[in-house]
Amino acid sequence: MAKRQPLVAGNWKMNGSRAEATALVTAVAQGMGAVKATEVAVCPPCILIATVASLLAEKANKRIALGGQNLSVYKSGAYTGEVSGPMLKDFGCQYVIVGHSERRALYGETDAIVAEKFKAAQAAGLTPILCVGETLSEREANQTEAVVERQLQAVIAAAGIAALANAVIAYEPVWAIGTGKNATPDQAQAVHAFIRARMARDNKIIAEQVRILYGGSVKGSNARDLFAQIDIDGGLIGGASLSAEEFLAICRAAE
Ligand code: PEP
Repeated sequence: MAKRQPLVAGNWKMNGSRAEATALVTAVAQGMGAVKATEVAVCPPCILIATVASLLAEKANKRIALGGQNLSVYKSGAYTGEVSGPMLKDFGCQYVIVGHSERRALYGETDAIVAEKFKAAQAAGLTPILCVGETLSEREANQTEAVVERQLQAVIAAAGIAALANAVIAYEPVWAIGTGKNATPDQAQAVHAFIRARMARDNKIIAEQVRILYGGSVKGSNARDLFAQIDIDGGLIGGASLSAEEFLAICRAAE
């Protein structure tokens, strides 16, 4: 079975000025010499994508991929404030995060909307990074697998299992995001294995190929143990992706 290439993607969320984005991506690019086998991506806020894209277009920075944090379900039209998949693609994005728990919780994105966004991303030639994960109360009620399965199933039902071949999944327990409290490697591995097994029910080959990232308070100090788990193929990194030093330590831990 082909080995899955690790991926570490930074989700900058709504942070950074042009100067800060420039300094951050330049510092990450300079540290990439020690990152050989891991694919690295950054997902800046939309308004900074053009700035980061032109920095990444410079020769030495080619090894860092670019991603959006969100996209519209529509391609274009009268949707004030929205950004479409084709626009992200036009600016050099390869990835787009879909269904982040902040989008689900703060902006009312339902499983059905997330599935539409997943399809819109692929229609634009982008690779969706599909986020799934349970809240603390859902975990305490032993609902983790049911919640993750429901979120995944919504996308499989709308897009088909074959669509997962061109996607990345990020398991992000909501209680671990931005809290400093990461899932233990065993807790994370158990859910990653469950996700893979759920996909294998529909297609074993795709289940083996799909990269499943862990997200939730990953730092340089805990990344290695998380990434050592058999079904964890890298990370989606929030807070720590705003520090080049921390982010690069995480990328090196994925090697
Ligand atoms: C995220 O928001 O995707 C995330 C994982 O955040 P943090 O690393 O800050 O917990």
